[in-house]
Amino acid sequence: NTFAEIDLGEALNQNIKRCKYVKPTPVQRHAIPISLAGRDLMACAQTGSGKTAAFCFPIISGIMKGQASQRPPRGARTVYPLALILSPTRELSCQIHDEAKKFSYQTGVKVVVAYGGAPISQQLRDLERGVDILVATPGRLVDLLERARVSLQMIRYLALDEADRMLDMGFEPQIRKIVEQMDMPPQGVRQTMLFSATFPKEIQKLASDFLSNYVFLAV
Ligand code: AMP
Repeated sequence: NTFAEIDLGEALNQNIKRCKYVKPTPVQRHAIPISLAGRDLMACAQTGSGKTAAFCFPIISGIMKGQASQRPPRGARTVYPLALILSPTRELSCQIHDEAKKFSYQTGVKVVVAYGGAPISQQLRDLERGVDILVATPGRLVDLLERARVSLQMIRYLALDEADRMLDMGFEPQIRKIVEQMDMPPQGVRQTMLFSATFPKEIQKLASDFLSNYVFLAV
């Protein structure tokens, strides 16, 4: 019943200790093993439940065990993140980015955030330094895709955070456009995690469209 008992890798376990997390929260205790086993997941989780770590730990662990993305060659314009975390707002995206950076300290896993309502120039510079995990709001990501500055063809992990809020904010067309880009070759298997506080029909539809053979978790 501690993080040390879960096989997340040495570096990540060190960072978890440094963050003073000892005992997994209920959503973490259930979601992390499901994700580590490679299953898609639809989880009912509220703010404050520890859901950020629940999707970040398996992503960081998986990237560390698998292949790291290459730092793009000098002058390369398109970057190929391995994981995408979509969230509804700038505030939430920045919060996830801050946490993901702490969790990936000294692991070599690079995390970049991109959100709307702010100049794109700094975000483009951040992306140019290389990105394994991209945390983004849907509108800004569509912009980056249209500019061909980001490609989703290498995405291995997709997390949709506060999916119900994203739908309430009218992001469904953007989300569908984004996920469609991951269904193109040469991308192999994508593992998807959907987090939502509520489960109206619209969210169940998203889950059946985006997830395959998923585990439903309500904590
Ligand atoms: P979240 O629901 O992901 O926004 O997390 C809520 C707060 O709980 C954040 O401040 C986290 O840093 C903290 N937190 C998450 N998981 C744990 C844990 N296992 N032990 C202690 N604090 C945690």
